[in-house]
Amino acid sequence: MVPTMGALHDGHVSLVTEAKTRADHVVASIFVNPTQFAPNEDFDAYPRTLDADLQRLHGKAAIVFAPTAREMYPDGFSTTITVGGPSAGLETDFRPHFFAGVATVVAKLLLAALPDIAVFGEKDYQQLLVVKRLVADLALPTQIIGAPTLREADGLALSSRNAYLSVDERAVAGRLNVILKEIIAAVRDHGDLRVAEGAGVDALWKAGFSHVDYVAIRDAATLDHITSLNAPARILAAAKIGKTRLIDNMAI
Ligand code: AMP
Repeated sequence: MVPTMGALHDGHVSLVTEAKTRADHVVASIFVNPTQFAPNEDFDAYPRTLDADLQRLHGKAAIVFAPTAREMYPDGFSTTITVGGPSAGLETDFRPHFFAGVATVVAKLLLAALPDIAVFGEKDYQQLLVVKRLVADLALPTQIIGAPTLREADGLALSSRNAYLSVDERAVAGRLNVILKEIIAAVRDHGDLRVAEGAGVDALWKAGFSHVDYVAIRDAATLDHITSLNAPARILAAAKIGKTRLIDNMAI
């Protein structure tokens, strides 16, 4: 299974392709999940392109499940799944509602399809770890696979939200991945992790981002705080350009 919110791009298709190498049949879901958006966020504006999405999936996904909100959340729906562990901090500091919405809908989707495997993108790295935790803790009979981030020629991670960017904003957006690579080079060169995070925040402001939510270097398996690179680490960042919020992350 490959769960998505639609407005499909090549990154989503790469997850379906990955799933196809491991499974006989792929179920893709398309559902803009209201419970993972706060009232001030872009739920209404989120791009919805179902016809084009179905064309992209033609011949790739055996089943496309595109439920309505009423189907997923019928009258009286009252259950929320809260995952601890890797959901602490980072995205949760800025979108406190987010992972409960994700965990609840992913649990429902996995129980509806009961797939042997489900593929999620490393693009949403914290989400990938939260989904792995959810599935382990509830003993759901699905193996979670992480797939690499697909990027544009200048390194910008493909995202449905890139459609919001003006030409000028798109140029700024392309700096995010470059700055993360520069920070990785600095810490690999024995730089102090906190100093490097601060330098990343400064560089994003200077590049023209209108707000920087975080640049963080964490343990890659747990997202715990670290002070040295003795174990696999990950750099994660979130920043806004105008109203558009972008996230990215890379292995260190
Ligand atoms: P979304 O529709 O944005 O919720 O994403 C659905 C799935 O596609 C998630 O598992 C994302 O991590 C994944 N995804 C989004 N963007 C990319 C990308 N550029 N490369 C690979 N996977 C992606």
